[in-house]
Amino acid sequence: MQTAAGDDRVNDMVVDVVPPLRVSEASLAQAAKLLLPSNLAILPVFLIIGVALRNQVSQPRLAYWCLIGVITELLAVLATWSYRRERLGGGTGLKSLPLVRLSTFVVGAAWGSSLFVPDPNNTSLVLLFAVFAYGASAFAMLLTIPRTDLYVAFEVPLFLTGALALAFTRDSRLFTVGLLALGYLLFATSIHRIANRGALEAIELQWQSEQLMSTLAEEHQLLLKANNAFAELNSRLAHQATHDPLTGLFNRRGAIDALDKALTAAGDSSSVGLLYLDLDRFKHINDSLGHRGGDQFIAVIADRLARSIDPGATAGRIGGDEFIAVLPNCDIGASLAIASRITSVLGQPIHAEGREVPSSVSIGVAVGPIHGVDASELLRYANAALHRAKGAGRNRVELFDGSVKTELNRRINSEQALRRALDDGDIVPFFQPEIDATSGQVVGAELLARWLRRDGVVVPAAEFLEVAAHAGLLERMTEHVMQQARPLIRRLSTLGLPDGFRFRVNLPPRATERSWRENPLDTLVGGIEPTLLTVDVTESAVVDDLAAAAANLASLRVRGVRVCLDDFARGVSSLSLLRRLPLDEVRIDRTSIDTITAHPHDRAIVRSIISLVREIGLTATADGVETGAQADVLIALGCIRHQGHLYSRALPASEFESFLNVSMAERITQGRVLTTSAADDHRLWPPHDVQ
Ligand code: GH3
Ligand code: MG
Repeated sequence: MQTAAGDDRVNDMVVDVVPPLRVSEASLAQAAKLLLPSNLAILPVFLIIGVALRNQVSQPRLAYWCLIGVITELLAVLATWSYRRERLGGGTGLKSLPLVRLSTFVVGAAWGSSLFVPDPNNTSLVLLFAVFAYGASAFAMLLTIPRTDLYVAFEVPLFLTGALALAFTRDSRLFTVGLLALGYLLFATSIHRIANRGALEAIELQWQSEQLMSTLAEEHQLLLKANNAFAELNSRLAHQATHDPLTGLFNRRGAIDALDKALTAAGDSSSVGLLYLDLDRFKHINDSLGHRGGDQFIAVIADRLARSIDPGATAGRIGGDEFIAVLPNCDIGASLAIASRITSVLGQPIHAEGREVPSSVSIGVAVGPIHGVDASELLRYANAALHRAKGAGRNRVELFDGSVKTELNRRINSEQALRRALDDGDIVPFFQPEIDATSGQVVGAELLARWLRRDGVVVPAAEFLEVAAHAGLLERMTEHVMQQARPLIRRLSTLGLPDGFRFRVNLPPRATERSWRENPLDTLVGGIEPTLLTVDVTESAVVDDLAAAAANLASLRVRGVRVCLDDFARGVSSLSLLRRLPLDEVRIDRTSIDTITAHPHDRAIVRSIISLVREIGLTATADGVETGAQADVLIALGCIRHQGHLYSRALPASEFESFLNVSMAERITQGRVLTTSAADDHRLWPPHDVQ
């Protein structure tokens, strides 16, 4: 629309740019404008003279003269027609110039030959005809001022034939008149030249000014076009700055602007409802559909949202799966009604990637100015209400109220406490051993974060990971824990670790969401001997930029780090990843282990995974092994590297060191050679880690 309107505007303003005629063309045009109609007048003039003098001139001579007039007239008509046609066709007229010259020459000759018409002995009649001819010559001199060639073409035949006719009279006086006329021709020619030069100069000046006008008009047009393109670019950039390319809705900035405007317009006299929406369990949808399918899903949701609100309302996508709707003139009741309508519209299953996918959304509602007077306050409150909706089981609407505010304050306090804990070094690494289930030997340990409170209570990860994620602290926490773990890892490796022993590091979700091109791993694992590390990645962390992730992981692997695909058998678990990623291990998701003894289907799935993984030369490891029965099944299926409560909980550094020492001492006592083979593992931030 923008473009079409812009084009119309330019078209409206386009100035017709007709190239000006050059000097020779313009002079021809000026002369032809007067001369050609005058040439056409020759026959009528001859006829009038002939009729007027019919009794004083011999009839045959008069008849010949009129015949000459007819022929001359025909030629004049032809020249006039040719010139006009060329000019009307957009030509310059120069192509017709030879014909115009010929016609003018013939007209001049016809006028000169008029002096042959009267009886040569009738001096007064001869003089009368001479007056006609030389009168026509004077007239022609005026008409041909812009063009000397046409002047010459007319005057020369006229004067020569005229002089010849006068010579034929054998009257010395008339002969003298003929000679005088030739002299006059010379004089008139020099006058004509002077006048012609002036006319040409005037034409030249006019041509130059027209040329200037034409150039200005062209530049004006170019300027208009450039202006228009600039305006279009500006509006496109402004649109991009405020809109989300995936959904076409306002982006965060555009949506917050709209909220600001709605609140300002409402003042104290009216209410503005703010709905804060977040899709439920969208990560799972992303996992099962893949990122592109997830995008399709988001686009459908955005479309449904835009259709579900009134024309005066505004919808925007302010984050990955987060949307807001700004509802002007809506009090609490109306906002809640619209929110609940939206939950049911957005809760309809969605057809994406060729299948039906269930959909649900949670909504937090806040209303201005009742709950907050500015956009950021209202957003914070609607978001707090959304959190409550999530906590209360999702797929529901929650209104901001005093208790939400209390919850919000509690969360703010928790965030502050967590930040303080990080600053004070209270977030520490714990180590959960990983065991070779056939020999009972410790073959690795997974780094896990724990909050060691001053009162001695160890806060499990599940209780602060969400706060950390919400506060954007996950990356900092991971780096912090790695930093604390480095000296211990170095010390243990100096003292001696079992052969093949590895520490398992789980990439924090933020690090994996970050572009792989930034190479987030180098800093994270820096300062530790690479052959002591296994890095766990999840499918959702790599699918966005598989090539960069693979290159990044491959470079780690070259240095000796092992790479493990974590949570396999959760979500899509695309088998192609096994081929496309540089892997050493695959870690079977703990939800599959939970049910391995209870459900034959789950056992069959785990069996297939283990045999597939082993067949392609990778190691299968299991996480969350809690019972002897689970361990037995896994061993029977060929997966011998286990981690879970059956073997050990996550231990603080000193306990882990003792655990390791005891285990190594037992092995020495048993006189066995420490031969842990290829496997090792475990994770830093398992969202399901509740130990
Ligand atoms: P919850 O019910 O708690 O909201 O669970 P959730 O899984 O929806 O978690 P959350 O809202 O925190 O995560 C949103 C996910 O959306 C995180 C990210 O993987 C995914 N995501 C973010 N941006 C995009 C995007 O542009 N396209 C796709 N396909 N996924 C995105
Ligand atoms: Mg969500």
